[in-house]
Amino acid sequence: MIHILEPTPDPLQAWLAERGVPGFRFRQIRHWLFTGRAASFEAMSDLPKSLREELPGSFSLWTMRVVDHKKTEDGTEKLLLELSDGQQIECVLLRDGVRRTICISTQVGCAMGCVFCASGLAGVARNLTAGEIVEQMLLLDRLLPADERLSHIVVMGMGEPLANLDALLPALAEASSPTGLGISARRITISTVGLPPAIERLSRENCRFNLAVSLHAPDDHLRDQLVKVNKNIGLGDILQAADAYFEASGRRLTYEYVLLAGLNDQVEHARRLAALLRGRTALLNVIPYNPVAGLPYRTPSGAAVDRFVEVLRAAGINVFVRERKGSKIDAACGQLRRANMLASKTPPEPTPLELA
Ligand code: SF4
Repeated sequence: MIHILEPTPDPLQAWLAERGVPGFRFRQIRHWLFTGRAASFEAMSDLPKSLREELPGSFSLWTMRVVDHKKTEDGTEKLLLELSDGQQIECVLLRDGVRRTICISTQVGCAMGCVFCASGLAGVARNLTAGEIVEQMLLLDRLLPADERLSHIVVMGMGEPLANLDALLPALAEASSPTGLGISARRITISTVGLPPAIERLSRENCRFNLAVSLHAPDDHLRDQLVKVNKNIGLGDILQAADAYFEASGRRLTYEYVLLAGLNDQVEHARRLAALLRGRTALLNVIPYNPVAGLPYRTPSGAAVDRFVEVLRAAGINVFVRERKGSKIDAACGQLRRANMLASKTPPEPTPLELA
């Protein structure tokens, strides 16, 4: 059975051509999938009955099961999805004014080893397929009323997106295609912990998307402890690759910095971060940590956040403190999945990070 949302190479187009079905039927099916929000092949009412009956024999449409669906008063909705092999992932719909942003996952788990993140605690199980990435988008789109459309995508959920570019790029092509979800590439942001060869590949192959690079520390000594994969990379190479992406694409570059109380939120950290970013045309998103059950990391006080931001602003850095939307529904990456896993078994307690 082929996932009908699998875009490369398009198996649906080939299947229809083999049967001599006219090309406009392909466009009709895409319209039902991306715009018509069809719940099934049967619901694609302008297709011949014979085609509607034959499609489910070769193609699966929905391969994921919604295990949990949480909502908050601020309009945030989070889905915990079970994949066809029983693995679980998360994705989120965020409402902000007229914006309808979705945050999607690219892997089951994550291998990057950010010590404060729920997604990576058990490592990575596998990459998502392009079809699975698109399916998340469509499931979130269907949470909206008929007169609303998705406006933005952030690839910031579970997993390291640049470790799964082979599936992500075709999926985002569908998202930005006028016959897909029609979301401008300017409204799509890929978030990465910073994998220079993959950033370089992105520069070479596709410069249309915004890039957000997660720093979380102003120097390699601290970053090696907070983001385990950094030991093999280093901030210098990451910033160089990000600079090159900005030059090649002209697209907005953002740096992300999760503030962890007592670990990376001191004035000295802010000064060193300002020195690192000085002269770079980029926005810095400071994100007060969203606590994860069972992890020992804490949210900094409002005063600590203000102090940190003041130092950066005084140094001329363009800083934005990102609101923690949906914190009541475990909205940070991997928390709902972890809560579900915790309910079924008891993992060993992680120990607090000891800074050298
Ligand atoms: S924060 Fe992102 S990159 Fe880091 S472990 Fe979690 S999912 Fe992976």
